[in-house]
Amino acid sequence: MKSFRKELTFNVPTRRAFINITPYVNEALKESGIQEGFALVNAMHISASVFINDDESGLHHDFEVFLERLAPEKPYDQYRHNTYEDNADAHLKRTIMGREVVVAITDGRLDFGPWEQIFYGEFDGKRNKRVLIKLIGA
Ligand code: ZN
Repeated sequence: MKSFRKELTFNVPTRRAFINITPYVNEALKESGIQEGFALVNAMHISASVFINDDESGLHHDFEVFLERLAPEKPYDQYRHNTYEDNADAHLKRTIMGREVVVAITDGRLDFGPWEQIFYGEFDGKRNKRVLIKLIGA
């Protein structure tokens, strides 16, 4: 059995963004040489997400509107968490969008369903944030 670990670092210039990280995961899979197994990809911060969905800009706008409706960034003082921080909304958005994804590896490729892509969801950017890729298999 092989085990492969890699960290990605993102420094998003805006507070919120969605980034398609599928090419990075494909690259890690190639580096690992694993043919059959599983890929785990998770955000290493509690104000960011990794999730799977469609790479479609209209949908990404809809996610932004949906998340702002559920957990609006402002006013900051509506949240108890925002005493010495202002990112309570980012924690809540991360919880909604999830921490990690697991994708099957089959014949040396990520075994996606139709239109599935892996995204990094940033909800409190403008600083270095990490994503962990862990691949297990043979
Ligand atoms: Zn916080």
